[in-house]
Formats: sequence, C-alpha cells, structure tokens
Amino acid sequence: MRELTARLATRRARGLYRERLVLASAQGVHIRVGDETLLSFCSNDYLGLANDPRVVAAFCAGAERYGAGAGASHLISGHNIAHQALEDELADFVGSPRALLFSTGYMANLGVVTALSDRHSIVFEDKLNHASLIDAARLTQAKVKRYPHADMERLTTMLANSAVPSVIASDAVFSMDGDLAPLQRLLPLARAHKAWLLVDDAHGIGVLGPGGRGSLAHLDIATQAPVILMGTLGKAFGVFGAFVAGDEPLIETLIQHARTYIYTTALPPAVAEATRASLQIVRSEEWRRERLQSLVDRFVEQATQMGLSLTGARTPIQPVILGSPEAAVAASRTLRAQGILVPAIRPPTVAPGTSRLRITFSAAHEPAHVDRLLQALAQLSDGGS
Ligand SMILES: *Cc1c(COP(=O)(O)O)cnc(C)c1O
Repeated sequence: MRELTARLATRRARGLYRERLVLASAQGVHIRVGDETLLSFCSNDYLGLANDPRVVAAFCAGAERYGAGAGASHLISGHNIAHQALEDELADFVGSPRALLFSTGYMANLGVVTALSDRHSIVFEDKLNHASLIDAARLTQAKVKRYPHADMERLTTMLANSAVPSVIASDAVFSMDGDLAPLQRLLPLARAHKAWLLVDDAHGIGVLGPGGRGSLAHLDIATQAPVILMGTLGKAFGVFGAFVAGDEPLIETLIQHARTYIYTTALPPAVAEATRASLQIVRSEEWRRERLQSLVDRFVEQATQMGLSLTGARTPIQPVILGSPEAAVAASRTLRAQGILVPAIRPPTVAPGTSRLRITFSAAHEPAHVDRLLQALAQLSDGGS
C-alpha cells in the first residue's frame, strides 16, 4: 500500500500523473465535461460516426433482435449471424478472402503475433509502434528486435544478420506523429525473408485510400500474403472492436491458435450491427474523407505559415512539437482555458525533447473550428516570444 502511494507521489511530482476527463455527452466536436462545453481536437472519431443517428439506430435494432450481450466466446456459442455478416462485408471492403473480428485492436495484435511465432522466431518492430504491437511481441517467446523509426537500411541489415523472422510489424499511420510507414519498402523485405508483414492500420482504415480502404489501398498494396491487415472499428468507424484480414489459412490459424480470440467473450452482436451500418457510410460517403482532408490541409498550411513545428504529415493526426513537457502541458492548459481541448503528450509516450500538443481532426469539424484553434495557437506562440 505505502509503496503504491509513494510511487504515485513520485509520478505526480514529475508532472506525469494522468487523470481522466469525465464526458457527460456523446463523443463529438463539442463535448460536455462538468459544466463546460469544450471544442475537442482529441478523439479518433475521424469521420464523425460515433454518434451518427443511422449507426445508433442499427445498434438499437441489433439489441432488440439479439439482446445486449453475446453470452459466450466465438468458439462456444457467441458467434452470431451479425458477426458473420460483418466479417464477410469487411473482407469484401478491404479486398481480402477472409476477415476475423476481435474484441479490440489491442487483442487483435496480441492474437496475431502470438499465433504466428514461437521461441525460434524473431519479431521485428518499428521503435514507434503502438504499445499493443510491442506488448504482442513481449508476450511471445520469440526474440524481439526493434528498428529505429522507419529506418529501412537498419532493418535490412538486421534482417540479413538474423535467422528466419516470423513477423515484421508496423503501424501504418504512426499514432503520435501521424506519418505513414514505408510500406512499399517493408513489403519486399518481408517477401525476401519469408516473414509476415503485420500492418496495424488503426488510424488509416476508413480515412485513407480510395473508398476509405486504408493505408494499403492508399499505397496500392494488395491485402494478401505476406500482408496481414489489422483494422480497428473504434476510430474512424466510430463503434468498437477490430478485425484482421488475410487469406483462408491465416484466418483459420487465428481461429485455432489466437488466444485473445478464443478465450474471450464475443462482441455484442448489436455492436456488429452498428458497425455494419457504419461500414456502409464509410464506403459510400466520400465527402467525409474529402472534408477531413481539406480541414487538415487548412490547418497545415496556416500553422506552417505561423512557424509552428509540425511533422510534415498530411493525416488527421497533427502534432505541434513544443519540446519540454512543461511547455506542452502549459500550452494544453492555456487552450483548455479558452474552451479548446488538445492533449499534451510527454515522455515516455514520445521521445524526450519532443513533447507536443497532439491535435486530431474529424470530418465533423467546421473550417471555423480549425480557425479558432489556429488563433489560439497563434496567441500561444506570441505569449512565448
Ligand atoms: C488504438 C490503436 C490500437 C488499439 O485498438 P483498440 O481497438 O482501441 O484496442 C492498436 N494500434 C494502434 C496503432 C492504435 O492507435
């Protein structure tokens, strides 16, 4: 007990203590926190679907028909026709023979990496990969090798000096920097070394590529072996859950061996029904992606003119690098005082010296919201100079 209290106190003293906001509204551009209404730039609801009436209606209808919970894991009696239909539609969406639903993206990554490696394997990971990919590799008995961010020369050397690897795993859009992984260069490396290439497209699926088919489609890479696509359904899709897409033997292997698939309760079928409605909107409403991109472009152009330090990415994840944790926290507080919610991201989530504001945009934002954010950022930099 006393040890925990001391550890928490140390964390607080270092300015690293984390606390949750309590939302009293649906997710959206304007959120209610206590008695404040805040303009939010920090959700992953990239297309503004989390509170779309059609998605909510499908959720309700699904609950009416199939109840509140699945009642069992997929392999016992929890696999419902709603799950099956969603898997078929997701496979069709990404152009893959099969797709398999997982309860979260975190669990999907753990399941894929553990099912495909053993103590003789080596798992290669980009240093900036999401925690779930890092944890997935830790959970295996495989050797784990992390290459410097997007450094294909280093990865080539590491692969050349290694026994046969099992998996090369990478975020497609990196969650803290918003940049795209060099997937066109990773693919031939994976092929040459007979490794799987696990592409975590949590931030690209629904957002990038023709029809929102994701980062692979954006780069014209087919979703077929050795590529494994992991997409999440709680971000651009606005619902919850995740899927893995690949060929028949891969998906059957996951059903047999992925412990995070086997030993957990299936998603509520109503969630699958809501996601089916969301998928239809993702596929058909191209204007959401166009609008999102024009907001991103508006922000990047003006922020660059203002001399803010961006990463060069053109995705809806736009970090403003400020340097010290104190600077990032102070900036976030100043924006909050003006009713704008933008989180400060500090080490160890990002490298020392690169503490930042992490701004995310949604198709539900208006150009005027972006302008209000830019004005507030301009005042910040005036205040600092
Ligand atoms: C959010 C995220 C995940 C986890 O997905 P959940 O469905 O929220 O568990 C995995 N990878 C990346 C890159 C993410 O951003």
